[in-house]
Amino acid sequence: MDKEMSYGSDYKFIPATSIGSGVGIQVLPDLFSYTIQIVNICFVGNPDNGEFVLVDAGMTGSADEIIEAAEERFGEGCRPKAIILTHGHFDHVGAIIELVDHWQVPVYAHEIELPYLVGQKSYPDPDPSVEGGMVAKMSPLFPNEPINLGNHVEKLPPDGSVPDMPGFRWIHTPGHTPGHVSFFRDEDRALIAGDAFINVKQDSLYKVMTQEEEVNGPPRYFTTDWRAAWDSVKKLAELNPSTAITGHGAPLSGEALTSGLERLVNNFDSLAIPDYGKYVDGNIH
Ligand SMILES: [Zn+2]
Ligand SMILES: [Zn+2]
Repeated sequence: MDKEMSYGSDYKFIPATSIGSGVGIQVLPDLFSYTIQIVNICFVGNPDNGEFVLVDAGMTGSADEIIEAAEERFGEGCRPKAIILTHGHFDHVGAIIELVDHWQVPVYAHEIELPYLVGQKSYPDPDPSVEGGMVAKMSPLFPNEPINLGNHVEKLPPDGSVPDMPGFRWIHTPGHTPGHVSFFRDEDRALIAGDAFINVKQDSLYKVMTQEEEVNGPPRYFTTDWRAAWDSVKKLAELNPSTAITGHGAPLSGEALTSGLERLVNNFDSLAIPDYGKYVDGNIH
């Protein structure tokens, strides 16, 4: 029997947007990034055979837009084989209940992220006092209560494979959240990074709206374990990705990605870790 699904009690529309909103980019023939307001979702699969999965599920109220974007790429009435989550923050699961209802597909996430997806555990409160300008100041608006997907969500296979994403493996990249994962394909070194690192300057709302590019650490207001976040970025940089779709900001490839990641790894303490904030441990600087 299906358990009923519900969003957290603080679930709401967040009126934040960017110039990239509504824009889709084919990064590789089988990798398509689409921006919902300020967050990216990703379709993995080649439109030629119509089989695909959806990585992450956008913002509150975006289900119709996501279904439309999927149908535009994979044909009317298309349906992904699964929805795979990098993590469970509100901006990555905003439309998921409507999508699961519509498509009747399973959802997968890391085992450690599951309590936040089945109504058992809230994420820590966002930290409006963290260094990070207007977005941090807005962050108390951001929902952090857990969604409940009931028995619609399952853990990713322990062997590292990703259901219905052949060739990809999941990589545990904690720090931003405990069960955060990224997806990597060894064959062409394509990476879906989630919020392990992003490609937006973080210091003002203006830069988020205009999506001014900069390879940077995870969004600050929600990141609680900076040491783990740094290790996760190192882990991803060591894979030497050739292309990356990040949770926020434009896709990256080639030299911009390589040098951006190198700069981030070497300067994570000054670039990514905020100078102050309640989740900042004075010892990491
Ligand atoms: Zn996040
Ligand atoms: Zn995010």
